[in-house]
Amino acid sequence: MKLILLGPPGAGKGTQAKRLEDRRGLRQLATGDMLREAVKSGSELGQKADRIMKAGQLVPDGIVIQMIAERIDGKDCAKGIILDGFPRTVAQAEALDAMLTEQGVTLDAVLSYELPLEEIIARLSGRRTCPVCKSVYHTVTRSPRVKGVCDHCGGKLIQREDDRPESIRTRMLAYEKSTRPLLDYYRHIGSLVPVLASGTPEEILKRTLYSLNGVPGRV
Ligand code: AMP
Repeated sequence: MKLILLGPPGAGKGTQAKRLEDRRGLRQLATGDMLREAVKSGSELGQKADRIMKAGQLVPDGIVIQMIAERIDGKDCAKGIILDGFPRTVAQAEALDAMLTEQGVTLDAVLSYELPLEEIIARLSGRRTCPVCKSVYHTVTRSPRVKGVCDHCGGKLIQREDDRPESIRTRMLAYEKSTRPLLDYYRHIGSLVPVLASGTPEEILKRTLYSLNGVPGRV
């Protein structure tokens, strides 16, 4: 099964991707996580991406396309993939189409998570993440058992630099300009499945699974 999770920053794509991954052994491919790993490693690519990401802008298409191309036909992706945060531009979507065509496979669904702007800002500004196991928390709606400490691995929770107000604004602009056009792109192909992204992660997962019910090869 091949799924794309689309939606503005803070819509909960990463959280849903993890839940879908656990459920069916699908592999989550998250370009944001890959880029943060590259930044942590201090590689040349990481240093270049770091500045762009902190500012909340999009990393050049060529870099993320290459990252996905290197992973998409890996053994761990045999049961299927969940693309989380990729594609984010029409050029990336076209490159993905070419990769899938070359593999002789098609997309099963593009889940489009939808959330009002005020909720996006509230979610992003309260979000805290574990840099070790990538678990996601929220200062108000999903606080860990011990303040500042990950329930799963004991990692010290951080606020992503791009979850600060200035970067949030830039990320929303990048979403509107470059990523929103993808909704029409996939609607036109007929694979767009809208999902309301407000509520708890469990409620959103229920809606996601319900929406996928009509999709062949469902999870
Ligand atoms: P995310 O974790 O998906 O919110 O991504 C964090 C940041 O990584 C974004 O704000 C971008 O700077 C960069 N990024 C992640 N995925 C992409 C992509 N597909 N294209 C361009 N930049 C990306």
